[in-house]
Amino acid sequence: MADVRVGPRGLAVLILACGIGTRLCGAGDSGPPPRAYPSIPRDYLLEAPNPPDFWVSTVDGVAGFLRERVRTGKVEVIGASAGGRPIRAVIYGHAREGKGTTTFSGAIGAGAMRAYFGPDFDKRVYLAMASVHGGEFEGIVGLVNLLSVLETGKDLRGRPWPEIVAAAGQIDRLIVIPIVNVDGRARVPLRIEAFRGTDGTIAQYMNTGGWPDGRLIGWPECKVFIPLDMSRTQFPGGYPNDNGINIMHDDFLGARQPETQALLELAARERPDLILNLHTGAGWENYYTRMLRPVAEDVLTPAFNGLYRAVQTGLALAGLQASGDPAVEADPARAPRNVFNLDTALDFHCGALSVVVESPSHGYAGKNPQGGEVRQSADRLLDAQLVVQQEAMKYLVNAGGRARWAGGK
Ligand SMILES: [Zn+2]
Repeated sequence: MADVRVGPRGLAVLILACGIGTRLCGAGDSGPPPRAYPSIPRDYLLEAPNPPDFWVSTVDGVAGFLRERVRTGKVEVIGASAGGRPIRAVIYGHAREGKGTTTFSGAIGAGAMRAYFGPDFDKRVYLAMASVHGGEFEGIVGLVNLLSVLETGKDLRGRPWPEIVAAAGQIDRLIVIPIVNVDGRARVPLRIEAFRGTDGTIAQYMNTGGWPDGRLIGWPECKVFIPLDMSRTQFPGGYPNDNGINIMHDDFLGARQPETQALLELAARERPDLILNLHTGAGWENYYTRMLRPVAEDVLTPAFNGLYRAVQTGLALAGLQASGDPAVEADPARAPRNVFNLDTALDFHCGALSVVVESPSHGYAGKNPQGGEVRQSADRLLDAQLVVQQEAMKYLVNAGGRARWAGGK
């Protein structure tokens, strides 16, 4: 079954509608991927055989899941993409009530963070979002399964996550956005990529796109072209929205994209303490899930170090790092440094500690520090996604929120 949508550029964008109901994204319930971009090499459109049922990764698969499986959470459309597609969040719990008396900048200037957060400064507000880059599926699968845990106590494999349930019970407000860049995700016509050994070329093509002669636009060169003139590509990839903008690197203080605006408005309303921004782009040489150190306020450094230690320790102890030794895997001095981007903008907008988590890809293998090949199965990738959520939520519960981390009175 396929859903046909006519995009703003007149291209028929076909989205695989996964079987809704008992099977959300099983194999064999639809034909070959659609050809909205007919010059994509045919081989690039191969999918892995028999995607697992827990692998819910498409725009329509996620929409179906939200419609049919979310009962406790409230599904809210927080905005529309450049291409006019709804951006959906699922929200649990009670928001901070009342307003502060000043702006975030004013609160920093006064050394009085509570003046920004208002009477509910001590509440804990957690936001997780995925697919800011539309070709990166692991975070989507992770957040759909997180929603399953929040709704039923179990992920879509039937595995219980009691520590997530317990932590969620102590977080006042929980917001989950499975797909931020809905345009980019709708553009990539795959549910799950075929496994390509150690060759990440096709995964990169799906993300950063290709020039008319088939050459990869590539990373980080894709960042030289924002906006990307999509009419001058063979395939624009899943990075940009339908205006050609990679919203990780939007014009944050100028003319913002609707996706960025929706996030900033949500952040201003909810005043989250912690934001997890889930990507697929783990380092080739140490091919395991890793959190990046954001460009953020200096005062958030201890909170980031604590969060990094908690998350990377959880991953190491679960056997999801190169070694099982937290002293090695969870040393914050090893956290790769990010650049000024969406997470920085969110921090300076609402005070949240906003961090990128980079997952390995299901589509290709990388290396461990000893040079051995590391292939990550769909199961292990989902385990890592949920361990990250579990440990980050526990960290927020134990360490308190932004008003406690810094800011004086
Ligand atoms: Zn990314």
